[in-house]
This record gives sequence, C-alpha cells and structure tokens, in this order.
Amino acid sequence: MSMLTDKRRDELVAFTQKMIQAPSYSGQENKVVEEMKAFCNAHHFTDVYVDKYGNCICHIKGSKPDPKILFDGHMDTVPVGDPSTWDHDPFAAEIVDGKMYGRGTSDMKGALSAMLAAASYYAEDLNYDFPGDIYVAGVVHEECFEGVAAREISAYVKPDYVIIGEASQLNWRAACPRNVPRHRLHHSRRLCDHPRGSA
Ligand SMILES: [Zn+2]
Repeated sequence: MSMLTDKRRDELVAFTQKMIQAPSYSGQENKVVEEMKAFCNAHHFTDVYVDKYGNCICHIKGSKPDPKILFDGHMDTVPVGDPSTWDHDPFAAEIVDGKMYGRGTSDMKGALSAMLAAASYYAEDLNYDFPGDIYVAGVVHEECFEGVAAREISAYVKPDYVIIGEASQLNWRAACPRNVPRHRLHHSRRLCDHPRGSA
C-alpha cells in the first residue's frame, strides 16, 4: 500500500504547481514534458520516452513480468482567453483556502501529476518488487485532435489496462475500443466533453 505522507503531499502539490506554471497550449507542451522528465529522473523511473508527436511516456518496470497498466492524461489546456476576467493569475497556481487556481488544474494537470506521483510512490514503497509495468503518459494535442496522439501511445505501450484521469464526477465506466479485447478495462475518454473555458 503506497503511503501519502506529509512530505509526499507537499511534493505533489509543488509538482502540480510547476505543471500549471508551465503554459501548454495544444502543440506547445514541451515545458510540461520537461517538468515530467525532471520528476521521473528524481524518482528513478526506468525510462522516459518522448515520441514523434511529443507525447511523454514515463515507465516503471516491476521485478516480474506481466500486465502493463497505462495511466493517461493530456498535457495541453484550453486557452486562458481574457486574463482580466480571472480572479487569479491563470499561470501562478496560487493556493487560496486549500484550493489551487490555474489553467489546467483540473483538466488535467492535477490528475497527471497525481498519477505520476502515485506510480512512483507505489514503486518506491515496494522497492520495485511488483509484477508488470506501470506507464504514465502525457498526451499532446488532446484538446484539438482527441485520440490521434493517444493511439500512438497505445501502439508503443500495448497496455493490458488503461486508466484515463479526466475529471468525470466519479461516473467512471469500462469501455471497449475496437482494438482492445472486451475483458480489458478502459475508462472511456468519451465521458469528457472538455467544456471550453473549464479549469
Ligand atoms: Zn480534458
């Protein structure tokens, strides 16, 4: 069981703030890739692969073979629009009354940061002694070309299971894309309607 200690909580909050402070409109995700790489290097990930689209695929290998689980989240955000309409600087990641404010906080740099942290803390607590491979992928261009870059990641990882961290009000469900056998679980990205102007 992976433990969320106070130190880890603080680290995760600081990492999420760095992700938000790195603007990443669609096609300009490279600063977020650099933040993800730095986190993976600090936490001894097995490898980090950036593919031809700019997707960032972070990998932790367990000590024994078997299932591959892929946590997937997009790195890009919708635009800020008119900054004067924001109560908080969209790229400051200010925390006020226990809430973090900034473009992409919930859609979906918070989830992407949490998935990376959870994977690394799980592996560290087990001293990498677990079966299978954990992948956490940051996807490019999801706000414009939903699914195109994600398919490239699936072809590279060939996951047995995929979990997508889009905010969904916990109405998660299993889905069965054409190229994945029916028994394999996939949290459908179709649940996310990416409302323009959402946080
Ligand atoms: Zn989204």
